[in-house]
Amino acid sequence: MIDKRRSRERMVREQLVARGITDSAVLTAMQKIPRHLFVQEALQAQAYEDHPLPIGYGQTISQPFIVALMSQIIKAEPGMKVLEIGTGSGYQAAVLAEMGLDVYTVERIPELYHHTRKLLRDLGYTKVRTKLDDGTMGWPLAAPYDRILVTAGGPGIPEPLADQLADPGVMAIPVGASRREQELYLMKKQDGTLSYENYGKVVFVDLVGNHGW
Ligand code: SAH
Repeated sequence: MIDKRRSRERMVREQLVARGITDSAVLTAMQKIPRHLFVQEALQAQAYEDHPLPIGYGQTISQPFIVALMSQIIKAEPGMKVLEIGTGSGYQAAVLAEMGLDVYTVERIPELYHHTRKLLRDLGYTKVRTKLDDGTMGWPLAAPYDRILVTAGGPGIPEPLADQLADPGVMAIPVGASRREQELYLMKKQDGTLSYENYGKVVFVDLVGNHGW
């Protein structure tokens, strides 16, 4: 366990702080969370390396820096309600929960949904709400959300998600005209007006669904 803690310290220092992650809530969360438990046993030794890893079903757990970047740019405050699309391994959801957010997360692949739901419970993230569904439709019953994080890339911003974003509200979402190559956008809603900031090239798995690929 000591070596894992050291691996995390190194990950935080070399991959996050060195590249401009300054949000102490994000750094503290990623220092604390046992990322190796979010990947398959055979890959645990690589869990703190500087890249994404496969989690089965053609999906990946995002690179640590990307998780940190998305968590930082949404500028969330404890107690805010956040919707994540693409639960995957559950790692990003755990980071958001450690940041004190009220987390709702949606996954479309049944096997990942069931596995991760149990993992989050076993690790004590009992307040994270999980749902098996097409997340491009959002989670209307619990809307609006102060923050929305989409961790898969589609051809555009799904309209239901834009509608379910609170005002004021912020959404981080990778968007790309072709698959597996996107740009990370931060969409802000304020007084009924939308504005966009571009955070540059990223690579996420496909957002598949009604308002996705
Ligand atoms: N946040 C995850 C990243 C997982 S990869 C993590 O921390 O590990 C993205 C995930 O999005 C995959 O599990 C994929 O199945 C899921 N996904 C793709 N399209 C989706 C959709 N329309 N609704 C919900 N989940 C979706």
